[in-house]
Amino acid sequence: MITFAEAVAQVAKRTPPASAEEVPLDAAAGRLLAGTVESRLDHPRFDATSKDGWAVCSDQTFPARLRVLGTLAAGRVAPGSVGVGETMKIMTGAPVPSGADAVVPVEEAVEEAGSVAIDAPPRPGANIRRRGEVFAGGAPLLEAGVFLTPVRIAAAAAAGRRSLRVVRRARAGLLVTGEEIASSAAGPGPGQIPDSNGPLLRAALAREGCETTDLGVCRDDLAELTSRLGAAAKLGLDLLVTTGGVSAGDFDLVSAALRSLGAEIVFHKVSMRPGKPTLFALLGPTLLFGLPGNPVSAAVGFDLFVRGALRVRAGLPPLPAPIDAALLAPVRNRGRRLALLPGCLHFAGGTVGVEPIPTLGSHDLLAQSRADALFAVPGETSLRAGEVVEAYPISRDWA
Ligand code: AMP
Ligand code: MG
Repeated sequence: MITFAEAVAQVAKRTPPASAEEVPLDAAAGRLLAGTVESRLDHPRFDATSKDGWAVCSDQTFPARLRVLGTLAAGRVAPGSVGVGETMKIMTGAPVPSGADAVVPVEEAVEEAGSVAIDAPPRPGANIRRRGEVFAGGAPLLEAGVFLTPVRIAAAAAAGRRSLRVVRRARAGLLVTGEEIASSAAGPGPGQIPDSNGPLLRAALAREGCETTDLGVCRDDLAELTSRLGAAAKLGLDLLVTTGGVSAGDFDLVSAALRSLGAEIVFHKVSMRPGKPTLFALLGPTLLFGLPGNPVSAAVGFDLFVRGALRVRAGLPPLPAPIDAALLAPVRNRGRRLALLPGCLHFAGGTVGVEPIPTLGSHDLLAQSRADALFAVPGETSLRAGEVVEAYPISRDWA
């Protein structure tokens, strides 16, 4: 049985980088940037006024009465320059006319019959946004791997980009296994249960931007499992996620099916709780994640291993840097394996705290559904409130 850290490292090592594709800005939201983006334009594009006001030369005597040369709307360029004793009314966003080096807001001037009275001397540069002060053409703008939020897309647009190179979406397959999974819309019969892992993992894959092929529910039958995994191996998937059938029971047949297909089993069993039976294999070039059937184990395995592979594809480290969080209540891990427990992060009073959520175990989806982080407690360890643990945010965008 390997450690959690070794398992994460193995997934990272076996995951190839993704290829990239160019998409228009309007299709880039939620995608991951494939390479560093450089600006094509200065931003601002020219010296522009940040106020509706009067463009003036600061280097003259104030109070002053200035002759009005005209009015300049945003989107227009002044026909001539502004000299001492002169001014031009300009609107927010308009280019500052040559000769002027300050803008006096309309509220601070009195306009009367072709001239304007200004009392206080403006500071040179007042209310002017300088060309290129936010970024210059050619400057790096967004780093490889960043999650494209609306504001990052806006920054790319301001930089003159109309499209961006993004990481190609992963092609994923999902196979749910288990004799007990109710497959009909009529609901579970005697001894059967609803399928929670199918919806869990389809939602998780969709949230990560994968194109998912739903391979349905497979019975715990070696021949059927082997043939369905064999067929999945021919679909050209980047990753195949299965759930169930990886524990030590008589009908846990995923690893046997994989072996008979000649898959390379990289690891099977990780010293962690939940998620001990997790299996990771290479089925041809397809990364296969055999997640346990217990729903919390499947969720944790997805967040830490499948998501880890998706991050590595995009050039990121498999796990985001953990947050150091102070425990808001004591916890105890009696077992030997590393525990990854559900918690709620609290950001108050200048420190990050994590509130452990009581859980009945790896079937307790309700406790897990309240969590926004997993925090790590080493094996055979008791921790007091106030002690610091490493927490990994889940259920929100990790950007
Ligand atoms: P397994 O990993 O196949 O031994 O399953 C472990 C536990 O998870 C059992 O209690 C199963 O009934 C349950 N389980 C397996 N698959 C699912 C599923 N798709 N949805 C909900 N529970 C499941
Ligand atoms: Mg099963």
